[in-house]
Amino acid sequence: MIIVLVGAPGAGKGTHGRRISAKRGWPHVSSGDLLREAVEKQTPLGLEAVRYMKAGVLVPDAIMLRWVEELLDKPEYADGIVLDGFPRTVPQAEGLDELLERHDLEIDCVLFFDIVEESAVERLASRISCSRCGLIYNLVTQPPPESNECDRCGGTLEVRADDGRETIHARFIEFRGSTQPMIDYYQSAGKLARIDTRGGIEEVGARVTAVLDGLAGRKAPGSGAG
Ligand SMILES: [Zn+2]
Repeated sequence: MIIVLVGAPGAGKGTHGRRISAKRGWPHVSSGDLLREAVEKQTPLGLEAVRYMKAGVLVPDAIMLRWVEELLDKPEYADGIVLDGFPRTVPQAEGLDELLERHDLEIDCVLFFDIVEESAVERLASRISCSRCGLIYNLVTQPPPESNECDRCGGTLEVRADDGRETIHARFIEFRGSTQPMIDYYQSAGKLARIDTRGGIEEVGARVTAVLDGLAGRKAPGSGAG
């Protein structure tokens, strides 16, 4: 099962990606985490990516696609994979489709976590995160420990610098410009499932579960699909 997550900032795709992964056992692969790990472990692709980052340019699509391809060859990703943060543009989506086709695979569903900008601003204003590992807490829905230390790594928690209104607005403009066309692309391909992100995590999670259970039903033994 290959699932792609897409959503503007604050839509909760990371949170729900991790929940899907925990519930169904499909690894959650965030392009940001992947990049950090590759750089930390100094893998050949990581070193290549660092060169671009040092030059202040985006890591090219071809490198991101090679990363995904490496994952597909590993047994732990054979049952399913939840891609978060890649693809996010039409050229990336087209590249991914080609790559998957070569592996005789295809995307099963693109979950689009839909949120209006005002709600995103409200939501993000209440976030704090770990300065070391990046784990995100929410003062309202997922309060951090009183010690102000991360549960996962013990790092110091702080308000995220990129959660200011101006930054969020800029990210929404970028989202509308480059990611909205990709959403349309998947819509035309019949792959898109729009998730209403109003309400609490459990409520939104139930909507995600309904979509994924529906897919699993379609892919059940006897349908011929793998
Ligand atoms: Zn941490």
